Amino acid sequence: MRINIPPQVEFVIQKLTAMGYEAYLVGGCVRDSVLGLNPNDWDITTSALPDEIKSALSDCKLIEAGVKHGTITALIDQVPVEVTTYRVDGKYSDNRHPDDVRFTRSLKEDLARRDFTINALAYNHSDGIIDCFGGAEDILNKQIRCVGEPTLRFQEDGLRILRALRFSSVLSFIIEKNTSASILKSGGLLDNIARERINCEFTKLLCGKKAENVLRDYRSVIEQFLPEISPMAGFEQHNPYHIYDVWEHTLKSVGTIEATPVLRLTMLLHDIGKPYCYTQDGKGIGHFYGHGEKSTEMTKKILSRLKYDGVTIETVTELVKLHDLPLSPEEKLIRHRLNQLGQNKLRLLLKVKAADAKAQNPIYGGRLGELHEIEAVVDDIIARSLCFSLKDLQVDGADIISLGIPQGPQIGRILSTLLDAVIDGKCKNQFNDLMSYAQAMKDSKL
Ligand code: ATP
Ligand code: MG
Repeated sequence: MRINIPPQVEFVIQKLTAMGYEAYLVGGCVRDSVLGLNPNDWDITTSALPDEIKSALSDCKLIEAGVKHGTITALIDQVPVEVTTYRVDGKYSDNRHPDDVRFTRSLKEDLARRDFTINALAYNHSDGIIDCFGGAEDILNKQIRCVGEPTLRFQEDGLRILRALRFSSVLSFIIEKNTSASILKSGGLLDNIARERINCEFTKLLCGKKAENVLRDYRSVIEQFLPEISPMAGFEQHNPYHIYDVWEHTLKSVGTIEATPVLRLTMLLHDIGKPYCYTQDGKGIGHFYGHGEKSTEMTKKILSRLKYDGVTIETVTELVKLHDLPLSPEEKLIRHRLNQLGQNKLRLLLKVKAADAKAQNPIYGGRLGELHEIEAVVDDIIARSLCFSLKDLQVDGADIISLGIPQGPQIGRILSTLLDAVIDGKCKNQFNDLMSYAQAMKDSKL
């Protein structure tokens, strides 16, 4: 096969080979090209030592931040191209970083240090694909297999455990038997891995096509850094709305929602407090009163611990808190909700509610229809530019002050009351009507 290499990357390969060195594309970019996907980044591996890379690319702008590990980034037409010297990793004493790295002139040695066979392919136009460990066949068979002995490879670097799950979820690949067995018994190695690294792989896993399956099959691994999911598994709900236990319901809801980090995290965590809120009524029906608040509190702690950014923590926590907020397709109610949450959050909440409903007893499918109706109401309010927030009001704080009301918190309160009056149809959103309404409020207070 012939891979379509971006000109900036091909330029670097040409420069190195013109000087007599070997240079190949390697890793994810070869894997993704074979799969017909667009690579995230293009990595080059070369027999040239770092100083040799520098002189071969002396007329390019170079960034040498990674040079200790053999990596030099060339900026070609502003595009960064990473070049790394063939490398063998030294001993790993911390289950994460090699104690030292040794450069080598052997491509095969460099490929042997890579995590999975599908990531250990090299390619250039003259030699085609170099496949020392059966990666091409594994791609055909859609399977993830360690290069070498899985248990050893995971002991060297525990993050590979999560990378395997991530690739399985994103690429819809199965994990080969030995690699899988080793993952299931090596989960504890994740304790040595920085939370930031876990976050990055876990978020990609969660946004993969097979997140539901991977979370189900490898729950014990995920529990290493997210032990709070454990009580959900097998927790029966004893409630006619549900046909699954809490964990299975959670998995189904994750699988059905759009693959963005915020939405997937919200579904994963929306019921995490349920096992702590269970009660049974006289008829044997299960209830989870207060689980929204409990889940909210747990979500905030979990996301902070896993080093998510502030916006993600805030948005997911709020969606978890709101996931059972009553909504119905009534224009007034939806305009109030739009004011309370803003359009973006309300639309996210509708997606969360739909995913929640899809993972419940299908005989209550009517809930989904109602959510579609609510969405149509939102669309209609936006399309007709109906007023739902203070900034849509035809008066502002200065207008209220001009009525002789002193500056202070009451100005905000009056504006809010005016907005409610407009939404509830008690006052038109027109300057004169609003001013008379405000004047009447002022007079009634006097
Ligand atoms: P993507 O860029 O799509 O996330 P990738 O496979 O390119 O996936 P990178 O993190 O960019 O992942 O790494 C590039 C290559 O470096 C990998 O394909 C693999 O060959 C090697 N590699 C990355 N991380 C490890 C690791 N922890 N252990 C061994 N090899 C690794
Ligand atoms: Mg990559």
